[in-house]
Amino acid sequence: MVRPQLLTTLFVGTLFAACVGGDTRPSDASNKKEATEPSTSESKTSAPPPLQKEAAPPEPKEPPPPLPAEHGQSGLLQAIKPTLWRPAMVVENAWNALKKIPEQEVVHEELRRSKLQRIACNGLIDFRALDAKKIPPFGYRDNTRNRSWVRPTVARVLIEGLEKLRTEFPDVHLSIGDLSQAGCGQLSHGSLIRYIADNGSKSLIEGPNSRKKHGPATQILNASVYQWGMPTAQELVSASALGVEASRLETLDEHVLIEHNILSQGDTPSGHLYLKVATQRFRPLLITDGESAQRMLKDLRFLMKEGTLVDAKQVLDWRAEPRKRLWSYHWVHPKRKRQMRILSRTKLKKRLRPSKLVEVHTARWQNKKPESFPGLIRWFPARSKDSNNIQWTGWRQLYEAGHQTHLAGRDADLSYVTLNNAGHFSINIASIDLDKSWRWFEILDETSRSLGARVDRILVAPSVWRLFKAKMKKTKKRSRIWRLLRRVGGHDAHHHVRIEIPNKRIVKESVTFLRGLFAKEDPVFNLPRPTVKPPKNPTVPKPQR
Ligand SMILES: [Zn+2]
Repeated sequence: MVRPQLLTTLFVGTLFAACVGGDTRPSDASNKKEATEPSTSESKTSAPPPLQKEAAPPEPKEPPPPLPAEHGQSGLLQAIKPTLWRPAMVVENAWNALKKIPEQEVVHEELRRSKLQRIACNGLIDFRALDAKKIPPFGYRDNTRNRSWVRPTVARVLIEGLEKLRTEFPDVHLSIGDLSQAGCGQLSHGSLIRYIADNGSKSLIEGPNSRKKHGPATQILNASVYQWGMPTAQELVSASALGVEASRLETLDEHVLIEHNILSQGDTPSGHLYLKVATQRFRPLLITDGESAQRMLKDLRFLMKEGTLVDAKQVLDWRAEPRKRLWSYHWVHPKRKRQMRILSRTKLKKRLRPSKLVEVHTARWQNKKPESFPGLIRWFPARSKDSNNIQWTGWRQLYEAGHQTHLAGRDADLSYVTLNNAGHFSINIASIDLDKSWRWFEILDETSRSLGARVDRILVAPSVWRLFKAKMKKTKKRSRIWRLLRRVGGHDAHHHVRIEIPNKRIVKESVTFLRGLFAKEDPVFNLPRPTVKPPKNPTVPKPQR
C-alpha cells in the first residue's frame, strides 16, 4: 500500500536536498551542558567480565530469526518488545555499571544483554502532570523535553518548599529544568525519552499527523518503518511548529526533521497502547560544495583504520527494497573523541565503497556515555541516475543536554530566585537574588528533614558560590547550607539539588500526600506501572491510507 505522507519523509535527506535553508553554524551554545555532575552512588551491579579481544575486527553477527515486522507493517506492534519495569535504583545502578566498563565493545554487548533501553522505572511521578492542576505554581524552562519525572518525596519537598518560600515572599517564582526522563536511565545528548500513550495529551512533538483520529501512540506506530534496526517514525515540520522552541532556530520556515525511535510498548492501566520512544530533532545542514562530504569520508576511512570497531551487525531497514537487512558498523576513536556509524547495503570488505552507503553518522564521542551521540550529523547520499556522482545531504541534531546524573528522580535543576523573577535559566549571575536564593536553600533543607528525607547536595557554579561567600560570610557563617553547597561549573544559570530518601515509609507517605492533592485517576499515577506482559496480538492498528 502507498502512504504518501510517509513517502515524503522516508528519504527526507534526498528529497529535501534542494530546500535546505540552514548553514554550518555551530551547535546551540546557549544550552550549556553540565560538565561535571555529582558522582552517583556506588553501583551494586558488578561489571561483566570483559570479552576476549579478537585480533581481527569481528564479523557481523548472524542475523536473528525473522521478526514479525518482516511480514510488514501489520506485524510491527508484535515486533516491538514490551517495556520491562524495574525499581528506579536498579535502573540507575545498571546504567552506572555500564558507564564503568572501559572496553567499548563490551559496553555494546552489555547494553544489548541488559535490555536497558526497554527498561522503565517504577515509582516515579510526572511532575508536569501535577502542574496541569496548577499546583504548585512552578515555571518551566521548556515545554517539550519531558525530563520531568521525579520521586514522590522529591515532588513533595518541592511543592511544600515553594509554598513556604511564597508564604515569606509571595511574589517569588521558581522554574524547573531537567528532572529525570521517562524510564530513568541516562540522558543522552540530543535524545528525549518519553512515554506516548493513546490516551495521553498531545504536544508539539507528539507524533506525525497529530490531528488525526487515532491516539498519539497509534499514529506513531502507523507511520513507523524499520530504520537501522529500529521502528522509526519521521515527520518534517517547519520551525514555526515548534512553538517557543522555534527561537532556537534561525528562521521560522527552516525545516526540522523529527524522528521517533520506538524502544518498547505496553498498555496503560486503562488499556490504551503506550510506547516508550526516543525522540530526536534535526535541522538541515547546508552543504555548498563537496568538500565537507569529502572530509566526512576521509574521517570515516581514518576511523575504520585507526578506531575501534565496537559494533557490527545486520539490521532490518525498510528503506531498501525489497525489505532486507543492511549492514551496520560503529567505530569509536576515544583519543580523538570521535565516533562514526555507517549503514551499508553490502557487507564491508577491505575498502569503503561510498556507493553502497545508505546513511552515515558522525558524532563526538564521550567516555561514560554509552549510546550518546553528541553533535550528531546524519549524512544521506543521493545519486543521480545519469552520473555516478553522490550528492550528500546532512542533518544536524538539535542540542539536548546529556547529564551524567538525573537518572532516577533524585535530582532537580532549578532556577535561582532572581530579581523580579527575570532571567530564569539565563546566564546572568547579577540577576540572582542572593538572600532569597539562600533562604530557598534553607527551606529545601528544612522541608526535606521535616519529611524524613535530606538534601544530599546543592550544586552551584564557583562564581555563584563566591557571590554567596561575599554576601553571607557575616550573617550565615555557621549555616548548614555551606556543607551542602558544591562548586561545580555549569551551574551559573541554575542550581542542581539532589535529595536522598532514606526509607520506603516516607515514600508511601509522600504518595498519599500527592494522591490527596490530585485525583487517583490522574495520569500522573496512571501511566507507568509495573506490568510485564508477553507481546500480544490484539487490535493491530490499520495502517493509514
Ligand atoms: Zn543538574
